[in-house]
Amino acid sequence: CGIVGYIGHRNAWDVIIKGLHRLEYRGYDSAGVALMNHDLKIYKKTGKVSELEGFAKDKDVSGAIGMGHTRWATHGIPSDYNSHPHTSGDGRLSIIHNGIIENYAVLKEALKQKGHVFESDTDTEVLVHFIEEIQKANKIDLCEAVRVALHEVVGAYAIVVMSKDEPDVLIAARKGSPMVIGVGQDEYFIASDASPIVEYTKNVIYLKDSQIAYIKRDELVIKGIDNRVVSPYIQELALEL
Ligand code: GLU
Repeated sequence: CGIVGYIGHRNAWDVIIKGLHRLEYRGYDSAGVALMNHDLKIYKKTGKVSELEGFAKDKDVSGAIGMGHTRWATHGIPSDYNSHPHTSGDGRLSIIHNGIIENYAVLKEALKQKGHVFESDTDTEVLVHFIEEIQKANKIDLCEAVRVALHEVVGAYAIVVMSKDEPDVLIAARKGSPMVIGVGQDEYFIASDASPIVEYTKNVIYLKDSQIAYIKRDELVIKGIDNRVVSPYIQELALEL
C-alpha cells in the first residue's frame, strides 16, 4: 500500500517513519521497516505506525539506509508474520511490495520443490525467495537478479529490495503501481507518492513501468527490465503547500 525508502546520511528510521505517517491517509493494516547497519534489522507489526514506533522504542534503529511499508493485505490475513518487509530463506534479502503477484502460487510451488520454506501467506514473500533462488543459481548481483525475476512475474507491483551482500544499495522497481524517487545531495528518497519526499527535495523522478533503479547514496542508474539503461528525467515538483 505505502512505500518509503531512504539512502544517504540521515537517520533512515526517522525519515521512513515520518514518511509512513504521511502515507497513512491511504489506509493500511500493518507497518514495518528494514534498516541496514552492519546487519539487517526488521521491525514489523500489525496496527498503526505509532504502534510500530512503540514496539521499536528500545531497539536499535540506527542506520542511514532503509525502507518501510504500510500494508493493505491482499494475500494472507493482517498479522505480524504477513507484514512487510519479508526476507529470503537465507535471510540475506529483504523486500517490501505494493500490489499483487498474480502467478505467486505457481512460483511458490516450484520454490517449495527446491526446498524453500515460507513463513507467511503473502505473494510478496514468494517474490523475495524467487530473487534469492535466481541470484544463487546464476551468481549475479542483486539488481540483475531482480531484473531476471521480474521477467517471470505477472501482476502489478512496486518493490524495494535490499541485500546484506550489497549493504549500500537499494533496488526499486515498478509495474502498474506508482514509485517516485527524490533526488537530494548525496541522498535519495523512494516513495509510492511524493508526499513523504516534498519536505526534503523538489527534484523527483517518476519511475516508469518496467523500470528498475539501482540506488546508492551517490549513484543512480535506471534501466528497463530489457536491460537498457535510460537517462532519468528529473522534474521539479510544483506543489502548492
Ligand atoms: N499483496 C501484498 C500483501 O498482501 C501487498 C499488499 C499491499 O499493497 O500492501 O502482502
